[in-house]
Amino acid sequence: MKITVLAGGVGGARFVRGVREEAARRWPAGADGPAGAEPAADGTAASSAEITVVVNTGDDLWLSGVRLMPDFDSLLYALAGVNDAERGWGRAGETERVAAELREWGVGWPWFTLGDLDLGTHLARTSWLRDGLTPSEVAERLQRRWRLGVRLIPATDTEVDTHVRIDPAHPDAEGRDELHFQEWWTRHRAAIPALGFEQRDLAVALAAPGVEAAIVDADVVLLAPSNPVVSIGTILSIPGLREALAATSAPVVGVSPIIGGRVVRGMADACLSAIGVETDAAAVARHYGARRAADVDPSATGLLDGWLLDETDAAAVPGLIADGFAAASAPLWMRDLDTSAALAGAAIDLALAARDGV
Ligand code: GDP
Ligand code: CA
Repeated sequence: MKITVLAGGVGGARFVRGVREEAARRWPAGADGPAGAEPAADGTAASSAEITVVVNTGDDLWLSGVRLMPDFDSLLYALAGVNDAERGWGRAGETERVAAELREWGVGWPWFTLGDLDLGTHLARTSWLRDGLTPSEVAERLQRRWRLGVRLIPATDTEVDTHVRIDPAHPDAEGRDELHFQEWWTRHRAAIPALGFEQRDLAVALAAPGVEAAIVDADVVLLAPSNPVVSIGTILSIPGLREALAATSAPVVGVSPIIGGRVVRGMADACLSAIGVETDAAAVARHYGARRAADVDPSATGLLDGWLLDETDAAAVPGLIADGFAAASAPLWMRDLDTSAALAGAAIDLALAARDGV
C-alpha cells in the first residue's frame, strides 16, 4: 500500500503520525512487506505501507545566515519523537542561549526565537546546501538520523518563500506593502489583513525529484488537515502538481482543518478570508473542487475524490455528495496518537470507498 500525504507543519505532523500508526496496525511489517523491519525511532511499529509526505516549503526562509524549513522540521521532529509536544513546535528539552546572543548582536528577528538544538538542524542544513546539495537531498540526509517510518520530500527545491501583500497604510505596516509570511504570521499573528499571498519564483519552480511520481504512483493520496492556503495551497501551486493529482489513478481524499466553522488551531481563517473562502468545512472542499466535476465539464479543475468532515459538520455531507464528492463525517480532533490514527483510518476508508465507487 502506497500512501502519499500532502502536508504542512503542525497539523500535518499530527496527521502523519496518525497515518503511520494506522498503517502499522492495518499493514504490519512482515505481512507482505519487508520482513523484520524495525520500529520507528519513537517506538511506532513498522508497517509494510510506503508512506511519502510531500511537505510545504512556502514557510521556508533565510534568517541569521541559515536556511529554515519550519514545516519540514516540524514533521521531522514529531516523527522522530524529539519534538516538544507540550509547546506544539520545536525540539523537546530546548534551550535558547544562542538566540540570546544573536539578539545582543542585533542579528535575526528578536520575535523569532531559534532554539539551540533547532539551530543545530539549520546549521547542518545550511552547511550541506553550501556543499552544493539540493534542499531535497539535504532533507534526505536529515532523515537518515532517525528511523521515521515515512519518507519526507520537500515539495520543491526552488525557494518559493511565501510573501503576504498588505496595505502600507495599515498602522502596523511600517509603510511596507509586503511581508515575509513568517513576519506576518509570527510577529503580527496574522492581524494585518492579507491582500494576497505570493510565492517567489513559482513560475520557474519544479517539483522536487520523486514528488510527482509519489502522487501518480500512489494507491491513496491524502490532503492533511493543513492550512488550505499557505500549506496545501502552496504545494498545489507548484507547476505540475495539480496535473499529477489529476493524473493519478489513486483516490484523492482531504481532511477538513475546519470544525464547526472554526480553525482548530492557529489562524488559517485569516488566510482563507484573504482568498475569499469562507471558514467552513464544506467551503474548503468546494475550494479544492471535486475531481468528478470534470466528467460533466472537461474544463473543471477539481482535485478531490473525497472530503472528510467532523461530525459537527455532518449536515454538509449530502450537499457535497450531490456536488460529486465522496463525503463522510468522523471525529476530526487530533488529541493524541489514538485520535490521530482513528482520523487517518477514516480518511483511508473514505479513499478506498471512493476508489471502489461505494
Ligand atoms: P502549520 O504549518 O504549522 O500552520 O500547520 P498546518 O498547515 O499543517 O496545519 C494548520 C491547520 O491544522 C490549521 O488550519 C488547523 O485548523 C488544523 N488543525 C490543527 N489541529 C487539528 C486537529 O486536531 N484536527 C483538525 N481537523 N485540524 C487541525
Ligand atoms: Ca507552516
